[in-house]
Amino acid sequence: MKAHSLLKLVVLFSIYLLVGTAGRLEAQDASLLTDLRMSQASLTTSQNDAYQKFVNSGGYVSTETKFTQIGNLASVAASGNVRIAIGGTDISFAAYDVSYNSEQDYSWYGRSAGGDDLLLVSKDGSRIGSATIGSEQYELLGLGSDVFAWMRINKESFSRYDCGVPDGSPSGPDGESGELADQTCRARILVLYTAAAKAATPDMTARINLAISQTNQALGNSQVPTSALRVELAHHQQFNFTESGNMQADVSALANNASAQALRNQHFADIVVLITNGNYGGTLGIVKAIGPSNNDAYTIVQTNAATSAYFTFSHEVAHLFGCRHNNDPNGTYEHGHNFNAGGLKKTIMNVLYEPEGGSRILHYSNPDVKYQNVPTGVPNQRNNALKLKNTGCTVSGFRGEPGPPPFQAHILNGYWGCACAVKILQAGVTGGSAPFQYEWRTSVNGINWSPVLGTGQTFTVTLPCIETAQYWVKLRVISSNGQVTETSRRIFVVQC
Ligand SMILES: [Zn+2]
Repeated sequence: MKAHSLLKLVVLFSIYLLVGTAGRLEAQDASLLTDLRMSQASLTTSQNDAYQKFVNSGGYVSTETKFTQIGNLASVAASGNVRIAIGGTDISFAAYDVSYNSEQDYSWYGRSAGGDDLLLVSKDGSRIGSATIGSEQYELLGLGSDVFAWMRINKESFSRYDCGVPDGSPSGPDGESGELADQTCRARILVLYTAAAKAATPDMTARINLAISQTNQALGNSQVPTSALRVELAHHQQFNFTESGNMQADVSALANNASAQALRNQHFADIVVLITNGNYGGTLGIVKAIGPSNNDAYTIVQTNAATSAYFTFSHEVAHLFGCRHNNDPNGTYEHGHNFNAGGLKKTIMNVLYEPEGGSRILHYSNPDVKYQNVPTGVPNQRNNALKLKNTGCTVSGFRGEPGPPPFQAHILNGYWGCACAVKILQAGVTGGSAPFQYEWRTSVNGINWSPVLGTGQTFTVTLPCIETAQYWVKLRVISSNGQVTETSRRIFVVQC
């Protein structure tokens, strides 16, 4: 072994000891939320105004609200786990997907051993979170001045509500499958909201950021490759539109609205979402037509259902790619799915209301992906992930990109590896100007990183021998003109 390789190993091992030890100490105490043990009467006027809007929406069980503070993520999640106390029980979520730049700019997604999950988003000066615990869903909602309301979704209030897209609707043709490693198909979404929606929603920007993050997390959870599809926010703003009370009529009016079309063109938006607070009865969302269809890529989503009421934003957007409900007689493989895994679980495109109950999980159907060891789809029948993969680049091409392809780093392989095994990771780059410099780092939590351990286009790692051990890699690429971009991911360790 060469001396510098040995040095690298020593450095790596020392970092492991430092971070690993600190992590274990942190893990005993660090809890994400600090219960402020206060009542609504203790809120300031502006915090109370915000809180009252959430209560008035009827979407939450307000009697169970806890007013909390959110801890510093870098210290709370130093061990790779985040802990939350729910009703006297501690639930620990292990980091699964992390993108951390600073406390003001991160998304953190973790899962518990029991299949619960937690998504935290810090962006644009706001933090927001959502969690699925057992058959219940929760949201962590900002009230201002670092006070948050941890609120359980009122399932009963949505029990007769659903998507308004009828089964049997026609759809557009599939496009080419976008699986090329040097390509990233990003569907840009223009999010508009009505005055009524704005009035009912204390922090619209945070809600929109959470909806985008949930959609991307669902794509990742369903193993839709990043090259085939991810969504991004093109622009968001308030929009002059009055809800008529008929959602079907409103989505047609939206698609024909000259101002909406102009904004769509201006911001190179492939998809337009209008967030409303209309009197639409039991309808939570609708699309102009099941896609992919350039002229029909318009959808309406009720604000109180966008994120909390079981991912309605992610549901309607998927319709625009051609995804269908579980029992839609039209179509072949592009249907939602439900299954039993500790209760009835439904993927995002499964209808919400069914007499047998059940709850949605942050997955699109895919027979190759398991949830609590149960497949989340059926081959050739219930595979929304394949539909999203097949049409991702088609929809992303409706308006194209506002400029040349953005400079992006990609780790082209290595989603998982065998315990104790050696793995060679490969760097890919889109955009930017060659030649490139590469910097590889590793981590045990996706937040704190080692010094540079490799500078080649490939990077050889030896994975931990313990299946539950977290092992993260980060690739930083510097272009010849000094531009910098980076990406990171957890490599899941499996026994082979
Ligand atoms: Zn639907």
